Amino acid sequence: MVGAGHGAGMAAANLRQYGFAGPITLIGEEPIPPYQRPPLSKAWLKGEADEDALTLKPESFYAEHGIDLRLGVRAEAIDRGAGRLRLSKGDDLAYDILILATGARPRRLDIEGANLEGVRVLRSAADAEALKAELGPGRRLAVIGGGYIGLEVAASARALGADAVVIEREARVLARVANQTLSDFFKSYHEARGVTFELGAEITGFEGANGRVAGVRLGDGRLIACDVVLVGVGAIPNDELAREAGLDCTTGVIVDEAARTSDASIFAIGDVTLRPMPLYNRLFRPESVPSALEQAKQAACAIAGRPGPPSEVPWNWSDQYDLKMQLAGLPFDVDEVLVRGDPANAHFAVFHLNQGMIQAVEAVNAPAEFMGGRQLIGSRRVIARERLADPSISMKEVAA
Ligand code: FAD
Ligand code: NAP
Repeated sequence: MVGAGHGAGMAAANLRQYGFAGPITLIGEEPIPPYQRPPLSKAWLKGEADEDALTLKPESFYAEHGIDLRLGVRAEAIDRGAGRLRLSKGDDLAYDILILATGARPRRLDIEGANLEGVRVLRSAADAEALKAELGPGRRLAVIGGGYIGLEVAASARALGADAVVIEREARVLARVANQTLSDFFKSYHEARGVTFELGAEITGFEGANGRVAGVRLGDGRLIACDVVLVGVGAIPNDELAREAGLDCTTGVIVDEAARTSDASIFAIGDVTLRPMPLYNRLFRPESVPSALEQAKQAACAIAGRPGPPSEVPWNWSDQYDLKMQLAGLPFDVDEVLVRGDPANAHFAVFHLNQGMIQAVEAVNAPAEFMGGRQLIGSRRVIARERLADPSISMKEVAA
């Protein structure tokens, strides 16, 4: 496997669980065994979780299961004809089956001052360590991008006593992933906890003093003074190995429902893939842990000669302050949006419908709506809107 992140770690474990007995090698450029990234912007950044909370499996797991973990090594090219991988260290590696699990990398801003000290991104444990060292009481953080990373880091920074301003190009936060009701709610919730926002803002450059960032210059000429910047403006799939090897790619490596690429002996899983979403009849790059884990199972089943796992309704989550946002489904082809509960109580859900069928649900501190919604998305049933909109009718009754 190329990549030793969340997807690859689980695929290796699944392969052994499903009885695959051949040798497995994990090639990972990071220096540590597979770990979970979600805490990096949440509990871990706030100092509420230790390294053990990040680790996917204890290091001994790999040796015990005959998994050769080669860390600090980069795969540089795939020779499909010869079935070999060129590595940055050591000899080439021969393969019969390859899994690409190379993930994604943070998009960088190509503007003046982008290389100043203190302009940071967040993807790896090393990035998180460096960011954490910069945050503390009275420190001024400027977050570029009001997506998941931006909002989660702003919340964590406030918990650490730092000031935080979120600078977003769109007119609302979470514009790529959530509905207007959610955007308004999250903005107000953050504002009540001291975060400020610059929306619809263009950034023209970072300004520094002695090589270190000191401010963000906006298109309207204003300078937002800061001590540290986090750039959270999206992720780019690490699909270069696949492209150079001639595999079908667009924005990511194209795979089927068994996580197979256009080469039958090469699979791809996780953030690097553009995968089928059976319920929505299209390809999509979900960039989430549950999707990477589902594909890890798909690939492991196909390799171990087992039937594939049942198709899942896509989902993920975000934690900010005392809020747990849970999302299921994808809001495609929506003809009606319905809010159940009251955002003012920080307990509500937004349902996206198409001809009476739920396409997606975004639930805030509302696990029953998330669970019930997820089930109803999978069942493709037309449901009674007035019952769904009435929080006095339980989700169980709505689904009955
Ligand atoms: P990764 O876990 O990124 O692993 C890919 C690995 O491959 C990396 O270690 C990379 O260095 C390595 N690699 C790349 N190229 C090569 C090469 N050529 N040779 C060797 N190694 C290589 N998702 C959620 O669902 N919920 C959340 O709350 C959530 N929070 C997140 C918070 C943060 C801060 C971040 C960064 C992500 C978060 N995500 C969350 C997204 C989630 O972490 C990813 O969807 C998941 O990690 C994808 O797994 P992956 O195996 O595809 O990629
Ligand atoms: P994201 O969700 O794509 O959000 C990036 C945001 O930055 C978008 O709103 C984007 O607006 C904005 N942006 C882009 N260019 C900008 C610019 N020049 N100036 C100001 N704003 C700009 O990505 P992310 O938050 O950076 O997250 C990166 C990766 O980590 C993703 O894979 C994400 O799924 C993952 N992650 C997930 C979670 C979670 O699931 N809870 C948490 C953290 C991270 P446009 O829409 O206009 O481009």
